[in-house]
Amino acid sequence: MARIKMNPIVEMDGDEMTRVIWENIKKILLEPFIELNTEYYDLGLPNRDATDDNVTVEAANAAKRLRVAVKCATITPNAQRVEEYGLKRMYKSPNGTIRSVLDGTIFRTPILAPGVTPEVRNWKMPITVARHSYGDIYSAAEFRVDRPCMAQLVRAGESKTIYNFEGPGVVSGQYNKDSSIESFARTCFSYALDIKQDLWFSCKDTIAKIYDGTFRSIFQRVYDEEYTDKFEKAGISYFYTLIDDAVARAVRSEGGFVWALKNYDGDVLSDMISAAFGAMSMMKSVLVTEDGNYEYEAAHGTVTRHYYRWKKGEKTSTNPIATIFAWSGALRKRGEIDSQPELVDFSDRLEAACMKAVSDGIMTGDLASLMSGAKAVDTDSFLTAVRDRVING
Ligand code: NAP
Ligand code: MG
Repeated sequence: MARIKMNPIVEMDGDEMTRVIWENIKKILLEPFIELNTEYYDLGLPNRDATDDNVTVEAANAAKRLRVAVKCATITPNAQRVEEYGLKRMYKSPNGTIRSVLDGTIFRTPILAPGVTPEVRNWKMPITVARHSYGDIYSAAEFRVDRPCMAQLVRAGESKTIYNFEGPGVVSGQYNKDSSIESFARTCFSYALDIKQDLWFSCKDTIAKIYDGTFRSIFQRVYDEEYTDKFEKAGISYFYTLIDDAVARAVRSEGGFVWALKNYDGDVLSDMISAAFGAMSMMKSVLVTEDGNYEYEAAHGTVTRHYYRWKKGEKTSTNPIATIFAWSGALRKRGEIDSQPELVDFSDRLEAACMKAVSDGIMTGDLASLMSGAKAVDTDSFLTAVRDRVING
């Protein structure tokens, strides 16, 4: 069989167990079928240290240039990691660095495996959470008030009383920017269009009339001016509702929509959604920019505990599905951008093969533990089972 040719994508290698799996996914599932063409950046912690973390910035810039990237999970160092790896300093989170270069929105979507039933019985399709990763309480100024005093918001020539404190308390000042909200809205509308699902946006504009009201009206304006026709043509809709109503509706829904949320709401609800859909190991994630750059990854980390067992020579049953879907997501997007249907087809086949293996009863321990009577296989046996199903369907 002739291998599929492709234009380059950015490949960001990572750490620990996921780095081991990364290599095997390429060897077993990709290289036999594709003439893999990647611009390789080693974001493994030792190389980030050797390059003073410049490799992370270079990789992010490459993603801007090539428009499509796939990333392996990486360690965000803490004090213990600094010691473990003998690091020169405590580097920032690579995902944070990449996000600040690309300035995009992260969409997190659970992968529904056959036989794994969501905690919410009526969820039949995944819910994608889009979190606005800018501003609000994450960059707020806070004060502890320790005695009676008047707290005010002051802007040139104008002030508003927040509260006239009669005793100790707390006060916080948060902000956001129209430009950031607008770009978030546009990215969400484009992404919903891309995957042909409804877009929900929810906040609390009845209470924060100016603050959340601004979010609501910017979303509405961007929709009216730029997306109404496109959404109608695609048969999807935009839906605004209050956050508390949205939470209730989401639980009663069948899933299958994109849910845009403010920074804090997205932080909290994305963890709730992923837990309720089943396994954290089955969550995929893509960073999308307003001008259409895509970086795909698994949402889970480097699975450290498995890695230490692997280093001792044990075979581990680590789930590679989210990492495989990062690759298939990137390859599909490359195929779509370049109008190369055989690459898109291959990505579909690869994802279907993962699901087929699971429905044939071949799965890793994390999934087996969610199904009664299922037996777990090790990672390499799972990868081989997926390869067989890519070939034979
Ligand atoms: P983690 O690597 O996601 O693992 C937490 C636990 O979840 C694992 O010990 C394992 O449970 C289970 N798990 C996660 N992924 C799995 C998979 N694919 N297959 C089977 N089980 C899986 O999170 P962490 O232990 O908090 O973080 C480890 C390192 O990853 C840290 O250094 C952190 O900085 C980094 N991290 C990176 C990213 C990223 O690059 N996007 C995200 C999060 C964390 P059992 O051990 O019980 O089997
Ligand atoms: Mg969180």
